[in-house]
Amino acid sequence: MDKIQCPMCSSQDTINISTYTADKYNFYCCNKCEGIFANPMKSAGKEWYETSELYQEPQTVSDYLQWPEKLLLKDIGLSKNLNILNIGCGKTIFLKKLKESGCMVTGVDINEKMIRFTKNILGVENAHACEISDFIRNYQGEKFDIVVFFEVLEHLENPSEFVNDLKNILSGSGLIVFSVPNRERFLPSKHLADYPPHHLTRWSTNSIRNFLEINDYSVDRIIISPFTAEILFHLFGIFFGTEYLENKIKKGDKRILITISYKLLFKFRVIFYNVLAIALRTLLKPKIKPKGIDIYAVAKVKNK
Ligand SMILES: [Zn+2]
Repeated sequence: MDKIQCPMCSSQDTINISTYTADKYNFYCCNKCEGIFANPMKSAGKEWYETSELYQEPQTVSDYLQWPEKLLLKDIGLSKNLNILNIGCGKTIFLKKLKESGCMVTGVDINEKMIRFTKNILGVENAHACEISDFIRNYQGEKFDIVVFFEVLEHLENPSEFVNDLKNILSGSGLIVFSVPNRERFLPSKHLADYPPHHLTRWSTNSIRNFLEINDYSVDRIIISPFTAEILFHLFGIFFGTEYLENKIKKGDKRILITISYKLLFKFRVIFYNVLAIALRTLLKPKIKPKGIDIYAVAKVKNK
C-alpha cells in the first residue's frame, strides 16, 4: 500500500485511523508530529465557501469578538503602528478595532463576500479577494510585523507550505498568531463543519508545537481556550429566539422592537451560558478538566 505523506511535517510514517465514508475521505495520524489529517487533502474550494451558509456576508456588525481576537488585541495593547496581515476575514469588528488602535491592516480572503463586508462595513479598504498563495507571491509592500490567521489552518490543503511561504512576507521580528479548533476539546460535537472538505486537519497542543518546530518556527506560546459559554452554544444550540430575530434583521426588518428584543435576548443568552459554563467548570474540574474549543498560538521564525 502506498504511504500517505503528512501535510504538516512531510513524514511518511502515517497510519490510517478512520474512514469518513460520506465524502470518501480517510483520516490519518502522523507518528512524527501527532497531526491528524484527511486523505485526500482536497479542500472545498472558493465556490463552496461563497455559497455556504457559514460564510455569508453580514449586513451589520455586532461588537462581539471571538476569544482569539480578544487575546490578540490584548497582546498588542499599546503597540501602535504595527503592520498586520489578516488571512481569512471574519464576521466581527476585529479588523476595525485593530485599525482604530493605530495598526495598518491588510485583509485577504478567498471569499469575495467577506472582502466586501471587510471593505464596506468594517471600513478596511486594504482587502483582497484571492488565494493566499497568490497574495504572498505578488506581495511587494512592506513586510508584516504580525500575520494573523484565526480558524484558517484547518481548511488548507498544504499547511506546511503555507507557513513556509509566510516567511517571505514576515519582518525580521515578525510573528504568526493563529487559532485552530482543539481536537481534544470537552465533548466534541459531531457537526459536519468539522469534517472534510471543510476541515482537513485536526490539531492538539502537541501537534501544533511539533508542526511549528519542524517548520522552523519557535513557539512563543500555545493556549487552550477556557471551557466557556461558546462550547455550550455549539452543544445545545439553544438560541432563545435570537436566530429567528437575526433572520428578520438580515432580511431588512428595521423595526425598533425587533432590534431591541434581539439585543436583549442575545445578552441574556450570553449570560445564561456563561453561568452554566462556570457551574460545569467548577463541578468537573477536579475530575475531567474540561478543555475549550480553540487553541491559540504565537510563534516566530527561527534564526531571523
Ligand atoms: Zn506529521
